[in-house]
Amino acid sequence: QDKHRFSGIVEDCCCNYETVDHLNEEVLHPILQELVKTPFFRYFKVKLWCDCPFWPDDGMCRLRDCSVCECPESEFPESFKKPFHHGLPLDDVVCQEGKPQAAVDRTLDNKAFRGWTETDNPWTYDDETDNAEMMYVNLQLNPERYTGYTGPSARRIWDAIYSENCPKYPSEDSCQEEKLLYKLISGLHSSISIHIASDYLLDEATNLWGPNLTLLYDRVLRYPDRVRNLYFTFLFVLRAVTKATNYLEQAEYETGNPTEDLKTQSFIKQLLYNPQLQAACPLPFDEAKLWKGQKGPELKQKIQGQFRNISALMDCVGCEKCRLWGKLQVLGLGTALKILFSDDGQENLAQILQLQRNEVIALMNLLNRLSESVNFVHQMGSAVERQFSSP
Ligand code: FAD
Repeated sequence: QDKHRFSGIVEDCCCNYETVDHLNEEVLHPILQELVKTPFFRYFKVKLWCDCPFWPDDGMCRLRDCSVCECPESEFPESFKKPFHHGLPLDDVVCQEGKPQAAVDRTLDNKAFRGWTETDNPWTYDDETDNAEMMYVNLQLNPERYTGYTGPSARRIWDAIYSENCPKYPSEDSCQEEKLLYKLISGLHSSISIHIASDYLLDEATNLWGPNLTLLYDRVLRYPDRVRNLYFTFLFVLRAVTKATNYLEQAEYETGNPTEDLKTQSFIKQLLYNPQLQAACPLPFDEAKLWKGQKGPELKQKIQGQFRNISALMDCVGCEKCRLWGKLQVLGLGTALKILFSDDGQENLAQILQLQRNEVIALMNLLNRLSESVNFVHQMGSAVERQFSSP
């Protein structure tokens, strides 16, 4: 059944599902997994503590303290201290954010990050200027997975994203531009849910982690459009990476560790000049078709504003690790949008494109996350479908 559902060309893209699965499993996923472990790509610069610009009276300060595990246990009422939960109740957002799995492990590497320029990204809200509030996070020590962040705080963010900033397009006949933002965010949302499902705290008492296939089905697989949007977003970001080949090939990946840096360059080349990718899916997404009509520039401006709002909303995410990955992945998407829509169809992208180091790190880590999600759906999809669709 799932074969029937997800066969043919990925909507608005240029490759079919089977090709994407095969290419990802055989080529992209293995390269990306190695690439993101290199010193250049594993450290992300981020300002994790910014005030939420949308709802200042939300009690963010309370959340802020708890998400860095600074809440003394004595702050919690006695009734919260149930067995096996180390004094923290399961259904309380504030306290769930104090769980170790929600906290960010900060690792500094002073040798990393030299020599890139700082140019503003019109698609994102982030202020990337270096200051004391910026920290470097080792992404390898902070995997995106289940954190226990749920309830009204999480729901409020997703509601604000979908209802105010990227409403579901009115009909199948809507133009590609109108669908774009919704599909990108929905694809990212699917990927976040898939990471929660693939690395879930199955038993808190014994600290047992593993896949939660019921959650995978309930949140993603039972909704075919969420799976389609995941593939769409993956191809969109992949296209951005291949479009920026000249830039990415020449970029400076030095971190002070020549052996590791050579590996980084080698993985980048393996990805950008991959003969299998070029043969099977040379144009994952065709951005040249967009913004063509009379309303093109106006639409683009509107969508850019909506995406900036979504980027700003990441400062309202009330769990530190979720905020880290939310910020990174939205910056990665913003970078893909910047690459694909900077040149207005002209051929001079290499001259006008300027990327920040952090944007490139976010872009590649996002691509890796999407690749992991596509892989997980491909590996688990059929079994889960069989299990949950049988009468
Ligand atoms: P939610 O995932 O909160 O979804 C809310 C509603 O959105 C659904 O009811 C549905 O109507 C709609 N929806 C769901 N999926 C899609 C889709 N793919 N496309 C379109 N519409 C959809 N939790 C963690 O445990 N770990 C994390 O790393 C993490 N990161 C997060 C990052 C961000 C930016 C945000 C906002 C939240 C994050 N969360 C994380 C919380 C997580 O995403 C869920 O909100 C939480 O697990 C509660 O899930 P839910 O079942 O209520 O549905």
